[in-house]
Amino acid sequence: MDRDTHTLMEPLFKYANRTPFNIAPERGQALADEIFKTARWKLTAMDGKANFHAYPQEARVSATHAGLASLWCLSFVAFHLTDIASRRQRSADRSKQHIDIGESCALLRLGEYLAYARSLFRGDREWPEPLQLPDVNAPFDSEAGRVNNVFFGALAWVLLHEIGHVHLKHEQFIPADQRVRQEFVADDFATRWVLDRSGQGLQREFRVLIVCVALAWLFLNEEAIGKGADHPPAFLRFQEAVAHFDMRERSPALENAAYLFKAIFDPETEPPAFDTPLQVFEWVKYRLDKLFPR
Ligand SMILES: [Zn+2]
Repeated sequence: MDRDTHTLMEPLFKYANRTPFNIAPERGQALADEIFKTARWKLTAMDGKANFHAYPQEARVSATHAGLASLWCLSFVAFHLTDIASRRQRSADRSKQHIDIGESCALLRLGEYLAYARSLFRGDREWPEPLQLPDVNAPFDSEAGRVNNVFFGALAWVLLHEIGHVHLKHEQFIPADQRVRQEFVADDFATRWVLDRSGQGLQREFRVLIVCVALAWLFLNEEAIGKGADHPPAFLRFQEAVAHFDMRERSPALENAAYLFKAIFDPETEPPAFDTPLQVFEWVKYRLDKLFPR
């Protein structure tokens, strides 16, 4: 079996252009009518390091296979971390919690998926031997199917950001400060698209979680290759997106997202005691601000 990202991600790439429709089906018609009305928008797969890019003049968005692979590996980690967290919450024996989490992460090789995801920002390379391969045909309710679900959700936000650049006809050759401004506008486009009409129930919970996975991917990028001149710092992008969340105090998505950010970026710090998921999330936000100085 070939283990290059091109071969492995090609089957998933086939579904990529459907993800902006699937993540917010209530806006599918608007997406088709307002944004793709001429049907000239296209998504192309490219080789090279992990990256997504918009070419507004050509009405084109590109995704690299390494970019898809990197996001898939982070989605694998995100699914399993939230799965471990919810098992822990259900577990009666709280004294065993710490050991179980470490053991589960090691057993699943979560650290190796993260290391591979990070490395792809520097250059494309083969899928490491011990890591599980993506299976686009996995049943929807299987573990692998649920990993794909997180991946396609996070991918939708990333692609909607690029579609925002295309739709708003952003200029590419302008001063850096204006480009940075455009990045916030594109993020805003993506986040509003995903959340604005999602209601307040389970759909919104899922969508907030997948936006957080996409944001975690931005932090991972900054951690791997540092801050670029034409993109805002990851923390500021996170902060702006989070301002749209508008979640209730006991939101499971906030609880899971807080757990995810903490486990990936701040595993050593002992958190204070909190009463609600919203409080935990606010503390994690404060920690990310410290960990990613601008
Ligand atoms: Zn952008």
